[in-house]
Amino acid sequence: MAKMDVGRFAYFDGDFRPIEDAKVSILTHAFNYGTALFEGIRGYYSAAEDKVLIFRLKEHIDRITRNCSIMCMEIKETPADIERICCELVKRNGFKEDVYLRPIIYKSEHSLGPKLKGIESKFCCWNIKLGDYVNVETGLDVCVSSWRRVSDNAIPARAKTTGSYVNSALARSEAELAGFDESIVLREDGTVSEGSAMNIFIVKDGKLITPPENGDLLVGITRNSVIELAGEELGMLVVERPIARTELYVCDELFFTGTGAQVAPVRSVDRRLIGNGKPGPVSKKLQDIYFEVVQGKTAKYHRWCTPVE
Ligand code: PMP
Repeated sequence: MAKMDVGRFAYFDGDFRPIEDAKVSILTHAFNYGTALFEGIRGYYSAAEDKVLIFRLKEHIDRITRNCSIMCMEIKETPADIERICCELVKRNGFKEDVYLRPIIYKSEHSLGPKLKGIESKFCCWNIKLGDYVNVETGLDVCVSSWRRVSDNAIPARAKTTGSYVNSALARSEAELAGFDESIVLREDGTVSEGSAMNIFIVKDGKLITPPENGDLLVGITRNSVIELAGEELGMLVVERPIARTELYVCDELFFTGTGAQVAPVRSVDRRLIGNGKPGPVSKKLQDIYFEVVQGKTAKYHRWCTPVE
């Protein structure tokens, strides 16, 4: 996401305002200590409905709302308010293409000290136009990072705090500097957690395997959607269990999932080809199903899409 195609309006300080007026002070707690929670949500433009459909909006709002408890945060907006604000923002920005929303709950107080309790928090949200975040066609070339994933007892990955993305940035940058597209990050115990901003799945002998929810990772909404789609639509057995590093080299297929990444096949890990070095049949089938679902083309899953009216 290098250059951003930013919407004219953002939601900031209790109202919709021109993006150039949506600014925080350098004294802000979140700026100094990384004390903000965020979400990344996609909306897909449906030509058939002539509307943007926001994917799994309620689930994203539910995740950030629950995470407020980890960070001792309270805001005046309710989950229903946030849902309305996200839809209204896309509408005000007038986008008739694929978009991305970034709701943020941040410690807004101007105060000294890395504390959580009793520090005022606010909600804001920005919105951009967004196509593919990573290549989803040919397969990504990835490496195993030398960085380790932040552990649940240090900086909980599940909380999706801005501070924890230093870990993601280190891993992603290491990969790019070495000529790879992306990193796979291991936990302190050496098992696989996830990519810099995406969950990971391997396919082995017809089974789909992904690390468990308590595996120092963000429990992705795309991950959960893909688990459901694989079971329901392909009748596949999905196993949530720790994955060893070398399982990455000997699996049949490997792919990432995420709001940004969508369903992104991987073609090599540490320069070892996965399968024949091309996106495999299961990855491609799940990707096709996923794209149909997010574009509102599958009646059964239209309940996952919130139309911007
Ligand atoms: N892991 C990390 C670290 C992420 O930043 C993301 C993107 N939000 C994901 C996984 C995928 O989560 P989701 O499918 O909810 O976007």
